[in-house]
Amino acid sequence: MGKVAVAFAAAAVVAACSVAAVMVRRRVKSRRKWRTVVEILKELEEGCDTPVGRLRQVVDAMAVEMHAGLASEGGSKLKMLLTFVHDLPKGTEKGTYYALHLGGTYFRILRVHLGGERSYLDVQDVERHPIPSHLMNSTSEVLFNFLAFSMERFTEKEGNGSNSQGVKRELAFTFSFPVKHSSISSGVLIKWTKGFEISEMVGKDIAECLQEALNRRGLDMHVAALVNDTVGALSLGYYHDPDTAVAVVIGTGSNACYLERTDAIIKSQGLLTTSGSMVVNMEWGNFWSSHLPRTSYDIDLDAESSNSNDMGFEKMISGMYLGDIVRRVILRMSQDSDIFGPSSSLLSEPYVLRTNSVSAIHEDDTPELQEVARILKDLGVSEVPLKVRKLVVKVCDVVTRRAGRLAAAGIAGILKKIGRDGSGGITSGRSRSEIQMQKRTVVAVEGGLYMNYTMFREYMEEALVEILGEEVSQYVVVKAMQDGSSIGSALLVASLQS
Ligand code: ADP
Ligand code: MG
Repeated sequence: MGKVAVAFAAAAVVAACSVAAVMVRRRVKSRRKWRTVVEILKELEEGCDTPVGRLRQVVDAMAVEMHAGLASEGGSKLKMLLTFVHDLPKGTEKGTYYALHLGGTYFRILRVHLGGERSYLDVQDVERHPIPSHLMNSTSEVLFNFLAFSMERFTEKEGNGSNSQGVKRELAFTFSFPVKHSSISSGVLIKWTKGFEISEMVGKDIAECLQEALNRRGLDMHVAALVNDTVGALSLGYYHDPDTAVAVVIGTGSNACYLERTDAIIKSQGLLTTSGSMVVNMEWGNFWSSHLPRTSYDIDLDAESSNSNDMGFEKMISGMYLGDIVRRVILRMSQDSDIFGPSSSLLSEPYVLRTNSVSAIHEDDTPELQEVARILKDLGVSEVPLKVRKLVVKVCDVVTRRAGRLAAAGIAGILKKIGRDGSGGITSGRSRSEIQMQKRTVVAVEGGLYMNYTMFREYMEEALVEILGEEVSQYVVVKAMQDGSSIGSALLVASLQS
């Protein structure tokens, strides 16, 4: 071999070595990056861990806080609000009634016709529209004028047959925010949640605001009840099944209510009702306990929200927030590694990833996870390999699993408070034979997250069985109530007339 050829060969070897070295370096670097995201995932899994022991601590904390909230005003983060609802619809109601429901994302209007028998419930003309976002931080006048206008259009559509002329229409106002009631048909707004910010409305009578707006439009309608959405769901549950004692809403936000004995509502001593009980609106979204598994993502989400230090439980379990928790995890992964490619500014935008997309990612059953790829592309992240898409699915799974299991612990906490969890409540122990006498309890559940996100529902129901045990769970029936909040509120108004 000549000198030149030797030099060439040597150069080729050197070049090959350095190419190999670069490749090895890259591989090591990429492995390190992958290791970084795997560590972020692992840290998330640990932070969101909800073994049954921890869930039981949450159950106990919920029951204890319920007691505290019933004992004195301000005794707990759980407001345990009186609703003045002591009789629930029985199934014998008759007539035509309306409901207007302001939720966190949607407003709904519907009409029900009741024929005096349970099987004769005709839900007519359900309208559901997204709440225009500018209304969420407008003025009370703008908001209520809009609701009255929508109501007017709704009534204009109906034929004369649905309501005989000259008879005032009876309306339920289903309102999904905390209200301090002075009667079933009046109450003032305590605070906004779920991103609403019309500060001048706090302290105002909500039913009166709607009634005035309806009057201004010349509508012959009477706001006969101001109903929390959970109480609506409980009413529909009870109408169909009198064993219904608890209702939970898991939609944009989350809340629960239940039937309580009046003598247990210590902060309102002397409260008398014919039934001896009253529905209590827990406002459980504000529940807090040191046993809740909280991560740095939850802390940041809370700090940057319009209601920080508030609604801690809601921020871990409800539809407004799950998407943003997932987004925060993906953002951190993309900042600490390059597995999502060049950084996307969209990913830094709060609430850009909706919980609807989280369920679409989680439930993507295409072999190549095409739906995941599509959603990531919408977030400005394109062409990520399959293993990264799988990682995103896992993040959604971890966040949703925690949410479902915590919601189950909340429900079990209520069951414990009312002695339906098989343990005899938090003050007394019961014998095994008494457990066998366990009363059947129906838990009515509604809300967009619960109704539409199958994996959430499965995690919640599975955890409830885990907490209660197979035996007791046989007595606890979770029933989905489609549009329960609105339909049930109309039924409640009907029951007030009879
Ligand atoms: P509102 O809270 O206004 O009463 P819903 O009870 O219908 O309305 O809840 C709507 C919320 O439920 C949405 O904003 C979303 O967070 C959640 N949601 C609805 N559909 C789905 C879905 N398919 N997957 C996950 N979350 C969903
Ligand atoms: Mg709702």
